[in-house]
Amino acid sequence: MKKNSGRPGEFEIIKTYFSPLSRRHPGAFGLTDDVAVLAPPAGHDVVLKTDAIVEGIHFNRSDPPDTVAKKALRANISDFAAKGATPSVYLLALALPDWPDGQWLEQFAKGLAEDQAEFDVTLAGGDTNRTPGALTVAVTMIGFVPQGTVVRRSGAKLGEVVFVTGTIGDAGAGLALLKRQADACGAAEEDLISRYRVPRPRLAFGRRLRGVATAALDVSDGLIADLGHVAEVSHVRIEVDAVRVPLSEALVELRGRDISAIAEAATAGDDYEIAFCAPASCRPLIERIADETNTPVTEVGRATAGEGVALVDAQGHEIKLERCGYTHF
Ligand code: ADP
Ligand code: MG
Repeated sequence: MKKNSGRPGEFEIIKTYFSPLSRRHPGAFGLTDDVAVLAPPAGHDVVLKTDAIVEGIHFNRSDPPDTVAKKALRANISDFAAKGATPSVYLLALALPDWPDGQWLEQFAKGLAEDQAEFDVTLAGGDTNRTPGALTVAVTMIGFVPQGTVVRRSGAKLGEVVFVTGTIGDAGAGLALLKRQADACGAAEEDLISRYRVPRPRLAFGRRLRGVATAALDVSDGLIADLGHVAEVSHVRIEVDAVRVPLSEALVELRGRDISAIAEAATAGDDYEIAFCAPASCRPLIERIADETNTPVTEVGRATAGEGVALVDAQGHEIKLERCGYTHF
């Protein structure tokens, strides 16, 4: 097989680009051993998550390599945020086609380094393979949560209210712009594209949801689709008021805010915001947490009797949706 002559070999890649990223975790042994070790802090549960991003699905070959690295890490960190957990170390499994050269890898590693500093996580190991297919970056994140306090999807109760952080639909619109190869990009377009490329996990906010939210998850496949998962395992029906779905100025500038724009936003993927349920009596506390962590939060709906999830108009009528969110198959 032809090798990529423009980049170092497997072990040089590990030594040059990845080993320096493991320095802060002594149990990574500088990536010179078969495994890494990690001592869990007393009184904590270990939290595990893996999330892979695939070229052509979650990112594109033309994306800046540091943004590819950040998306891979942040997709995992977002899950930790939604569960009230703290990420600690991660494993990185790379399937590399021939096209990424040394410069690509260097920029990719730079993205990892920046996010390691931003989110206080450290590389502890991984695997590097060649692939005839799409570039795949699989991250396995390992972290902790005080024993028994992980925020599940399944605790929502009748009569509770539903909230979501940030704004919805930006990344989906950013992806649509990239697909159309819109080249005349203004500030609004740049904003949306950056939401697609580099999610912003709500880690500080999520940590404060322990003991407050009865159910939570990160919105990665679409607000409606993901709240459908909460409804299913919590045995409630979730209604989302269309007019309350939070849209960014950039999105409104581009798409307006009629029902079809809202429906599109609420069913688009890659938001990486946190949707959660809590008793109505928690509203003031949630407002305070939002203030203290600088996180916009909007009440968007309620948990009622029944099943499923619905986007409803001002009259309470269900809005028919073509799809609820992104699915791979
Ligand atoms: P093994 O032969 O035992 O599977 P490898 O030779 O694949 O181990 O890897 C050697 C070391 O380098 C291991 O500690 C492994 O965790 C680490 N490693 C390999 N690829 C990566 C990567 N992409 N990111 C981080 N660490 C890696
Ligand atoms: Mg081995």
